[in-house]
Amino acid sequence: MTVDYIIVGQGISGTWLGYYLLQANKSILVIDKENLQSASNAAGGLINPVTGRRVVTTWLAETLMPFAWNEYNELGSLLNIQCISRKNILVFPAAPDLMKAFIDRIQGGNGYIKTPAINKETLRQQVSFPFDVFEIDPCYVIKMRELLQSFRNHLKTKNILLNEWFDESQLVFKTGHVEYKNINAKQIIYADGIQSAQSIYWDKLPFVLNKGQALLLEIDGLNSAYTYKFGHITLASLDHNVWWAGSSNELEFISAEPSAGFKERTAGVLKSILKIPFTVKEHISAVRSATVERRPFAGIHPVHKQLAILNGMGSKGCSLAPWFAKELAGNLIHGKPIDALANVQRFARMLSR
Ligand SMILES: Cc1cc2nc3c(=O)[nH]c(=O)nc-3n(C[C@H](O)[C@H](O)[C@H](O)COP(=O)(O)OP(=O)(O)OC[C@H]3O[C@@H](n4cnc5c(N)ncnc54)[C@H](O)[C@@H]3O)c2cc1C
Repeated sequence: MTVDYIIVGQGISGTWLGYYLLQANKSILVIDKENLQSASNAAGGLINPVTGRRVVTTWLAETLMPFAWNEYNELGSLLNIQCISRKNILVFPAAPDLMKAFIDRIQGGNGYIKTPAINKETLRQQVSFPFDVFEIDPCYVIKMRELLQSFRNHLKTKNILLNEWFDESQLVFKTGHVEYKNINAKQIIYADGIQSAQSIYWDKLPFVLNKGQALLLEIDGLNSAYTYKFGHITLASLDHNVWWAGSSNELEFISAEPSAGFKERTAGVLKSILKIPFTVKEHISAVRSATVERRPFAGIHPVHKQLAILNGMGSKGCSLAPWFAKELAGNLIHGKPIDALANVQRFARMLSR
């Protein structure tokens, strides 16, 4: 079998890269061992333009917000699903200094933060909050599991998905192409999340692995027009009465499995906030592939020109993956530049050792 590109991994990065390469009429083969515990399958699918206790605008937000809205709608129409919805976040600061950060941003003219129009007394019938409430506008939620599954089916109908574990030891670099088992390709792209940190070609990159856990809840009657944020817990509506509550950010962990402590803590906090009953349906956990300088890794290997990477999306894969997949596709096909802050060439010396 001969294709233009092999993509290893079909999380959100491999999905977007596959989409753009197919849009450009390139032939691809995606190798992905189905794993419902991947970071992409565990994610809440939130796209939020502000971050942190100081409520700062995220990197590239002005570009990424409209781009994500447009691209997820396009991909959704190809797959015949509605995978993105606008669900502004209602934030409930838990302390006066956190509230002040929001007031300062509004006064400073941050266009993403506003005082919500929703009636606060109606809101208090559903959730209890000690201070005030603020709205982040716009915010989006991606139905990650449905999107990944639909794109997987799309690849299956084209007969371009191998549902098996990629074995790096069988990869051979030839002049101008690569061979993997009986497959020939011009280039191979690793979009394999945390696995790249163990690749003999990419393990020198400054990866930071970070475990995240979340709960899937059933809640009847909570206003699903919004996403809710209480401290570290975000509550996002996925489907009529199905809600995602997450997540943790654990830099030290012994196993990637869900922990009883997280479930207890999160359910406890939610019980003290929600005035409507909820049931925990599932407890999910996965390890994110983040990077020391919080910028992704995209581009061609400095030594092996037939090898490229799309990785290091950290906790922002839903907004970063489409943008950098498009940049990488443009780079592979037409040699277009990749944002220097994300281009893996910034580690050329390290990767050449
Ligand atoms: C609990 C949690 C909540 C999160 N919430 C959000 C959120 O709300 N918004 C947001 O933007 N981001 C969120 N993130 C981060 C987001 O999930 C990641 O940034 C993103 O999913 C990374 O996608 P990826 O495709 O690069 O990697 P992955 O999702 O890890 O995908 C890699 C894929 O490659 C496959 N694979 C790996 N190695 C091999 C191999 N050798 N052979 C075959 N297949 C292989 C894996 O099975 C997987 O399917 C969250 C993460 C976690 C853990």
